[in-house]
Amino acid sequence: MTTFWCEHAELGTGPVPGVRISVDNGRIAAIDRVPIPADGDTRLAGVVLPGFANAHSHAFHRALRGRTHDQGGTFWTWRERMYAVADRLDPDSYLALARATYAEMALAGVTCVGEFHYLHHPAGGGRYADPNAMSEALVQAAAEAGVRLTLLDACYLTGGLEDGGHLPLGDVQLRFSDGDADAWAARVAELKERPGLRIGAAVHSVRAVPADQLPTVVAAASGRPLHVHLSEQPAENAACQGFYGRTPTGLLDGAGALGPDTTVVHALHLTGDDISALGGSRTSVCACPSTEADLADGMGLFRLLGDAGSPLCLGSDQHVQTDLLAEARELEERDRLITHERGRFRPAELVEALTVAGHRSLGWADAGRLAPGQRADLVAVRLDSPRTAGAAPDQLVMAATAADVHTVVTDGRVVVSGGQHVLGDVGRLLADAIAPLWDER
Ligand SMILES: [Zn+2]
Repeated sequence: MTTFWCEHAELGTGPVPGVRISVDNGRIAAIDRVPIPADGDTRLAGVVLPGFANAHSHAFHRALRGRTHDQGGTFWTWRERMYAVADRLDPDSYLALARATYAEMALAGVTCVGEFHYLHHPAGGGRYADPNAMSEALVQAAAEAGVRLTLLDACYLTGGLEDGGHLPLGDVQLRFSDGDADAWAARVAELKERPGLRIGAAVHSVRAVPADQLPTVVAAASGRPLHVHLSEQPAENAACQGFYGRTPTGLLDGAGALGPDTTVVHALHLTGDDISALGGSRTSVCACPSTEADLADGMGLFRLLGDAGSPLCLGSDQHVQTDLLAEARELEERDRLITHERGRFRPAELVEALTVAGHRSLGWADAGRLAPGQRADLVAVRLDSPRTAGAAPDQLVMAATAADVHTVVTDGRVVVSGGQHVLGDVGRLLADAIAPLWDER
């Protein structure tokens, strides 16, 4: 039994002072109100929150941070540079990059990540000796970084969508594709869940998976998390409307892809009917505010989606920043800019998006709350830093950043202590993983 004494702990009704959390075999065994720590307690200063779930990640996009701001452009020109990095990765370099990327997430309080994975095969197509070698690199990376993983293995079959129909795969996209949805499902079926690993599914987008292939993916995902990029760009909506005569949301709805096990990512350019379909089916929505700003995607109507019935969660997506507290804050700030009103999301709702809702989206019903029986995921955030000093504990999410996270416990294991990750210098790990990807060749 390990015991953590928390100066404040978020027990579901707001932070309360003086809490001891007893941990046994990776689970919370007991929670007691204790005004002062006892000998043997690990003392956690500040506010202890449940572990954060980063519900949408592409680990390899971390290599693009600070590298794409020199030539203007659009989402589509950014994508060309992303493809250039994708073209260079193999299982070894993918492992190094993902391990460092997940370690950076752990430093930011992330205890569980949803990796939306489509970099399946060797550059140019073909197959590795183990057709899941790239997936296994991600599994190993997350385990070594001390972050639980839901591997959202993405079906990706076509090069895009225009009014005339789906486009053939481009050269770089060949490695994303299994050929058809049946072959994708057969490969994913070979992936086995392990402690700390869930296998989920993804439809890359309605651009990359033709409508006649969607039911196969939906069937293969049955009972597991299913994630989809949805309406990130107006061009996707226009092409879908032009070819299928429906919105992307309508197309997914018609294929039976919406529901409480499904999460749509972005969901920025929606009609009223789309919002009703998503909310009415209790489909989760994952907002990625920093990416949506960075890629000039637009602003979502997340308050309306939440009010319609969609649970909201958060992702760092392309990792323009790895700061889930900032993503949560930006969810509220974007809605203020749209509506000219403050307090669109209460701080407690932002914490819920970071914790319970994210874990539910990723298929972990036993994580995201500080309660007996739950996984022992703890994130301790300073109340005494230059950024947070003076903040009320129950409004900390509107002030703190990733730099204020000092201790992170995942499944009872201390992964970050004193702001240091067990793997050591994460900046060095990132630099060493990223530099070779940008070498002149
Ligand atoms: Zn994405």
